[in-house]
Amino acid sequence: MPSHSLARIAVDDIEIIGYSVAGEETVVAVPQLDVCFDIGKAPDQIIPINHVLLTHGHMDHAAGLAYYLSHRKFCGHTEGTVLAPVDLIPHIRQILDAWGRLDGTYVPANLVGVVPGDEYKIKPNLIARVFPTKHCRGSVGYSIIETRRKLKTEYTGLTGPQIVELKKQGFPIDNPMEIPLVTYLGDTKYVDFSSLDYVANSKVMIAECTFFFEEHLDRADAGRHMHIDEFGRLLEGLHNDHIVVTHLTQRTAIREAKAMMKEKLDKDIYDRITILMDRRSMNRINNKK
Ligand SMILES: [Zn+2]
Repeated sequence: MPSHSLARIAVDDIEIIGYSVAGEETVVAVPQLDVCFDIGKAPDQIIPINHVLLTHGHMDHAAGLAYYLSHRKFCGHTEGTVLAPVDLIPHIRQILDAWGRLDGTYVPANLVGVVPGDEYKIKPNLIARVFPTKHCRGSVGYSIIETRRKLKTEYTGLTGPQIVELKKQGFPIDNPMEIPLVTYLGDTKYVDFSSLDYVANSKVMIAECTFFFEEHLDRADAGRHMHIDEFGRLLEGLHNDHIVVTHLTQRTAIREAKAMMKEKLDKDIYDRITILMDRRSMNRINNKK
């Protein structure tokens, strides 16, 4: 496996590390939320992260799965949890079993099959919600959502003891509240996500934009990837504070991609964009592999 360094960017108080080049490798992690979207070739920095959220089974997004799970055991971590489209689970199980036989060991794994609409509890106040994308059969995206309870407005003037008393008497004093923090689309062609409130209002949107040139419109369509023309349309319906762009191809220089984005996107949108692999906006961290 080639060794390369991961990008590290910070948007507000959320740190994102990863590597994403179309067809080569895509792995994007948010360590403080304990999630890694897709696994790429399982770079060392993501091994301690407990949850891998796989969007689809393409090799550049999924190749490192067995190594991730096995290396966690080697490093003394608990078994890793992998969320993946439900149809992929038997195939992943077969791969892990085959690797186990090759390796002479058992590869521990908590495999969770998901379909759109599912929710998985990452931490007590943090869930991953699954939604459909348009890339390949069963492909999904994930939103990481903080869940809180908010005191009902009619009780906001009460003192602590008064609220405790109401609670004791069994009054429902609060309502559930959701704060969508990070959404990851994975690979997908254009979908109007504006009706999914938690996607549209996610603080951070991590989205692919694979093709930039007019002559690549057909290619974007065939591979079910996003073209810059669709990318603008996607973002116009959303209200994310930050947009992190992944999955550029090797043939598009970052400088070129930025120039195209500046030309094609509204200034308001362009100003919120960071390209994950842009060396100017990130600190490189060494991949010790
Ligand atoms: Zn793909």
